[in-house]
Amino acid sequence: MTVTLAFIGLGNMGAPMAANLAAAGHRVRGYDKVATCLDAAATAGVTPAASATEAVADADLVFTMLPAGRHVLALYDDILAAARPGTLFVDCSTIDVADARAAHDKATAAGMRMLDAPVSGGVVGAEAGTLTFMVGGEPDDVAHVAPFLDVLGRKTVHCGGPSAGQAAKICNNMILGISMIAVSEAFVLGERLGLSHQALYDVAATSSGQCWALTTNCPVPGPVPTSPANHDYRPGFAAPLMAKDLGLAANAAKATGVRAELGQHAAQLYAAYAQEAGVEADFSGIVRDIREQRDGGPA
Ligand code: NAD
Repeated sequence: MTVTLAFIGLGNMGAPMAANLAAAGHRVRGYDKVATCLDAAATAGVTPAASATEAVADADLVFTMLPAGRHVLALYDDILAAARPGTLFVDCSTIDVADARAAHDKATAAGMRMLDAPVSGGVVGAEAGTLTFMVGGEPDDVAHVAPFLDVLGRKTVHCGGPSAGQAAKICNNMILGISMIAVSEAFVLGERLGLSHQALYDVAATSSGQCWALTTNCPVPGPVPTSPANHDYRPGFAAPLMAKDLGLAANAAKATGVRAELGQHAAQLYAAYAQEAGVEADFSGIVRDIREQRDGGPA
């Protein structure tokens, strides 16, 4: 039986994901409100729909890859009534945990099934089909979507019930945001103390300071030749996306009464960085902001 998939939101991430599903032999009906995105997807094997409602009308599965929770909720208000009863909706966008819960509620109230399934791996992972999915929802629905996620990614983790995928995504990125700032502060302190980048790297990479921000995405040029620091901080993982995810983590911390002081502070630092020098840079470029700041004492 041929499965018909709807894919709504054909931007940087959605376009290559929809193209990979089409290349795997599925019938993919795509929609994006930006005509150029729709045209580009059509050249990659996606059948363009005239509207989101048309895209979902005879779909077995509905994927969405949209900027934020408000887009997902507004879209669901438009399309849920147009889908066949019991259709499985899979939202791959990174959105607020509370919005993910609201989306689940809307979908089930309309007689649909839903999974939140945010991703990590970025545009490179979307193009290569090597994303990681963090999924929240019912086990049967996760099993149902698994063959399609296997086309799009290398790993799927079922994190729990509704919104657990979004929770896992923002918790992981809060670790990453904080640890990148920690690694950057350590390198800048090392510079002022006369330590070479390579010496600090050689020690920390094999000591208790070891982490992904150091050994894969090292914020200074040299020790890890593939890190964005060696390519003028071209992303990689863009600073505005890190700022967004830390903002979502800060919202969730506030909503649950968790103090998360470092998470809140990291969210503020990345919000400021992403608006100015970091607007088009990898998130590791924050090391340059840290280097420029001076906090009293002799220069
Ligand atoms: P993007 O802005 O490139 O794409 C979003 C697309 O959604 C746009 O083309 C926009 O026109 C479309 N859209 C918005 N509202 C719509 C509507 N009502 N109907 C139809 N189309 C609509 O964003 P992106 O980089 O593809 O990111 C998408 C999501 O993935 C975000 O939530 C982001 O946080 C998350 N994400 C992005 C990356 C990354 O590296 N880009 C990595 C992981 C997760």
